[in-house]
Amino acid sequence: MKRILLLHTGGTISMSTDQRTGAVKPSQEHPLHQYSHLFEENLEIIEEDIFQLPSPHVTPHDMLILQKRLIQAAEEDIYDGAVITHGTDTLEETAYFLDLTLDTPFPVVLTGAMRPVDELGSDGVRNLQNAIWTSLSLEARDKGVLVVLNEEIHTARYVTKTHTTNVATFRTPTFGPIGIVSKHEVRFFQKLIFNETYQIDRADKNVCMLKAYAGMDSTLFDALLSTDLDGLVIEALGAGNLPPAALPGLKKILEKNIPVVITSRAFNGIAQDIYAYTGGGKHLKELGVIFAPGLSGPKARIKLVILLEQSFDNEQIDLIFQK
Ligand code: ASP
Repeated sequence: MKRILLLHTGGTISMSTDQRTGAVKPSQEHPLHQYSHLFEENLEIIEEDIFQLPSPHVTPHDMLILQKRLIQAAEEDIYDGAVITHGTDTLEETAYFLDLTLDTPFPVVLTGAMRPVDELGSDGVRNLQNAIWTSLSLEARDKGVLVVLNEEIHTARYVTKTHTTNVATFRTPTFGPIGIVSKHEVRFFQKLIFNETYQIDRADKNVCMLKAYAGMDSTLFDALLSTDLDGLVIEALGAGNLPPAALPGLKKILEKNIPVVITSRAFNGIAQDIYAYTGGGKHLKELGVIFAPGLSGPKARIKLVILLEQSFDNEQIDLIFQK
C-alpha cells in the first residue's frame, strides 16, 4: 500500500462556479475531496486543507508554513509522495520556494487548474491524477520540486504561467518540460544538473521587484529608498540593460549596500552582462548589480528572499546566483 500526502491550498482547483452570477469562488467543501479515492488502487491519500487561499493572497510566510508541514511529513517517514494543489497565479513561486528549501526523500509535486471542477472541460481532476501518478514515480525522486499540469512535468525552477486562461499555460521557455504524463505512464526525458537547498526559519525580508521599460527614470528607485528595502529584483530590458535615466536611482540603492538582482523582462533566454554602453549589462555589473541567469523576476525574488535569510553578504549572493 502506497501513501500520498495531499495538501490543498486553494485556487481555481478548489473553487466552483456560482450558477446564478457565473463568478468563480471558493467552495464550502473542497470539490476534489470526492475524487481523490478514485485515482489508484492500493493507494492511501491523506488529505489536508492546509489553506483556502486564492493564490494572489499567498505570501512567503504561507509558503514557509507549507514547507514546515512537508518537513514534518518527511520526519513522519510514512509517505511515498506529496502533492500540493495551488492557485495557478503564484504556483511557480511557491513551487520554487519549496524547491529551494526542501530535501525530502519523496517527490513533491504541485498542480492546479485553469477551470473550476464544475466547468465544461475542467482540468483539475485530471491534473490532480497526473500529479499523484508523478509523485508515485520512482523516477521523480531527486528531480527537485515538480509542477504537473496539462500532462507535462516541469521543474519548479524554470516553469512559468504563460497564458491567462488556456489550460496549456505552464511552460519552461528555455528547454521545455522535463517529462510527460501520457495516459497512465510517467516518463522523464531530462533532469537539471544541480539542486540547491537552504534551511530557513523565517521569510520576512522585503524584496521588491521592478519591470524596466523604455523611458524608465529614477522615480521608482527613489520611491523605494524611503521604504524598508532589503533587496531589489529588476526585470531589465533584453539581455539585462537599463535606460540611463534609471541609473541615478539605481546607484543610490546600491550605495546602501542593498543587493540588486537583474533578470530579463524577455520571456525566453538568460540575463547576461553583454553591453558596455551606459546602462548596458557590463556597466550595470561594474556598478555592483547581481545577474540571475535563467531565472525569471519572480523566481529571482523568491531566491533573494531565501538567501537574505541566510545572512550571506552581497558577494556570496552573487556567487550563488551564478551557479
Ligand atoms: N486566480 C486563481 C488563483 O491563482 C487562478 C487559478 O487558480 O488558476 O488562485
